[in-house]
Amino acid sequence: MKPLEPLTAKNRQYLAFRRAVLTSQARQIVGESSTSGVVEFLRLPLQRLPQPEAVKVLLERCLKRSSNRVYFVNAHTVVMSRKEHALEETLNRGDLLLPDGSGVLWSSRLLGKPIKFNLNGTDLIPALCKAGAPKGLSVYLLGAKPGVADDVAHNLTQTNPSLTIAGIQHGYFEEQDLETVLDDIRQAKPHVVLVAMGVPLQEFWIDQHAKHLPGITLIGVGGLFDFLAHRVVRAPYLVRRLGLEWCWRLMMEPSRLGYRYTVGIVAFMYIVLQDSLLAFKRKQNIATQQ
Ligand code: UDP
Repeated sequence: MKPLEPLTAKNRQYLAFRRAVLTSQARQIVGESSTSGVVEFLRLPLQRLPQPEAVKVLLERCLKRSSNRVYFVNAHTVVMSRKEHALEETLNRGDLLLPDGSGVLWSSRLLGKPIKFNLNGTDLIPALCKAGAPKGLSVYLLGAKPGVADDVAHNLTQTNPSLTIAGIQHGYFEEQDLETVLDDIRQAKPHVVLVAMGVPLQEFWIDQHAKHLPGITLIGVGGLFDFLAHRVVRAPYLVRRLGLEWCWRLMMEPSRLGYRYTVGIVAFMYIVLQDSLLAFKRKQNIATQQ
């Protein structure tokens, strides 16, 4: 995937403006008095919404057939976004950024802006399908290895018989087949496309092709299909409640996730500490100026 051009000063201004718009839109959705809203987290505007509200907001956008780029942000995404500037820009162009995982929650507390609600896709997407099925929601599944999305479709419709699966496409198609895939999605007219290609490929894919898929909500869901197709076993409830799902995932797939959950976590903590120090210095500067 071709990386995007670096940001110009004008684009930077536009992104700052867009963040402000996102914040005010979120306030309008949830009401000024609510603790919900948008939290500036490590240069990314994340939604602070309880899960039922997040499902409601997402479903409304899908059924309205508005165009949306929705991304989940976890510790790995933050580390990648600092390594690859194009990813940070892509995320900032998104319409909804959802906090994913305990790493984001505890570090947001450390940074003094607690996000509180973990909106991970493994819980949120099945909840969206459940709420949307009786309202005629149609979903296109794009991504993962051949055969995986078929099992996801089977499992999702078993749980939600009225859910429409508008189409299925694995995530390893050739560049020359891109137009055929985009045509297939357009003809299927889904409300939502779940793009499960991993970070950052799915974010770049969504950002690049959203304009060719108008009226569709595109959501980057990472390894979700592997869970929903039961290719990867999810952590037991208690482990999830303790915020230790990442330990479980590491045990399940040590060779693939070893680097991400060792070096990656150290890199994430470094970013959090660096940003909290910066925020502290900025506060001190303001205090001495007053
Ligand atoms: N994948 C894909 N196309 C690719 C590369 C990866 O569809 O070219 C799929 C892969 O099969 C897996 C998912 O993307 O189902 C990535 O899962 P991972 O857990 O790495 O997601 P992340 O943690 O990066 O969100």
